[in-house]
Amino acid sequence: MTLKLDINPIKSWLPNIDNPLLISGPCSLESEKQAMDTAKLLAKDKRVFVYRGGVWKPRTRPGSFEGVGSIGLKWLQQIREETGLPIGTEVANAQHTEEALKAGLDVLWIGARSTASPFVVQEIADVVKGTDAVVMIKNPVNPDVQLWLGAVERIHQAGIKNIVAIHRGFTPFRQTKYRNYPNWKTVIEIKRMMPNLPIICDPSHIAGTREYLYEISQKAFDMGMEGLMLESHIDPSCAMSDAGQQLTPADLSRLLDRLVIRYENANNPDFENQLDVLRNRIDAIDSELLEILSSRVDIVKKIGQYKKDNNVTALQINRWTKLMEDRVGLGKKLDLNETFVKIIFQLIHEDSVRMQTEIMDEE
Ligand code: PEP
Ligand code: MN
Repeated sequence: MTLKLDINPIKSWLPNIDNPLLISGPCSLESEKQAMDTAKLLAKDKRVFVYRGGVWKPRTRPGSFEGVGSIGLKWLQQIREETGLPIGTEVANAQHTEEALKAGLDVLWIGARSTASPFVVQEIADVVKGTDAVVMIKNPVNPDVQLWLGAVERIHQAGIKNIVAIHRGFTPFRQTKYRNYPNWKTVIEIKRMMPNLPIICDPSHIAGTREYLYEISQKAFDMGMEGLMLESHIDPSCAMSDAGQQLTPADLSRLLDRLVIRYENANNPDFENQLDVLRNRIDAIDSELLEILSSRVDIVKKIGQYKKDNNVTALQINRWTKLMEDRVGLGKKLDLNETFVKIIFQLIHEDSVRMQTEIMDEE
């Protein structure tokens, strides 16, 4: 299924962007000074295009810092005035959205907990209806692509064309090294289903700690994502929320220096030609692979018939163990990854057994 929604490219609402869309700023605005000091340093790095700051904070448990509230919108306005950076915050209900629109914010985003609730998304959609707001939609906390797509559709149905999806990872079911595990397959799936929906990555909420920000950011670019949202704070150790994952503006710049930014197209005819040559070879090899698999199936069927005629079982464990050892050994000599070879032969063997049992069950 491909949904050809009428969604604008980022450049149409942020014309001076010539790089990936980099959004940065504190998890939460805490004071006028913290917000402004962070912004002034960020603005020195011309790779930062939008300033973010949480004003209303959705906290998983009550009792933690829940944001400074509406006063933060004024601080954001001052930041835009002083630094020229477009400003954005998270909205989680109709009232937030009304206030944020009234304050002229350039970007609104729907947080992961809100995307998980179609009622909340609809409430926000009803308020932005008929405006030219830019709405970013984080993935829901649970790995449900349909909920994420549904939120995009609700906002789009309200007439909003400036939409960006943000991948911020999913709540893990068990302890993982990341706070929220990334699911790159889901990102590919969304790109396939909505080819013109820009997607950026939020490595801060995926990582949960500073040490993983680089690897996740680089992976996001390797996957062709169009930008990053990275939290930054003038003094992360004192942050009132998400202290472990925020960077100082200087560390953010250092991180950006290390990243290799990749583009879907190189705009270089030599590169394109070379890529075409290589892709043609891959296409040819893939069709050979399939032909070889199909000849293998012919033989498997013969074996199935032969076993049936002689009342022998489809599965013979000794043969299977030996086959696997042999193929893994062969794969090693050819420099193939052991797990890769194992998985492929498990699949091939499973399907062979399935075909043979089918033959045996035939009347
Ligand atoms: C945030 O951006 O500060 C935030 C709360 O993110 P998320 O909705 O991804 O948890
Ligand atoms: Mn945060």
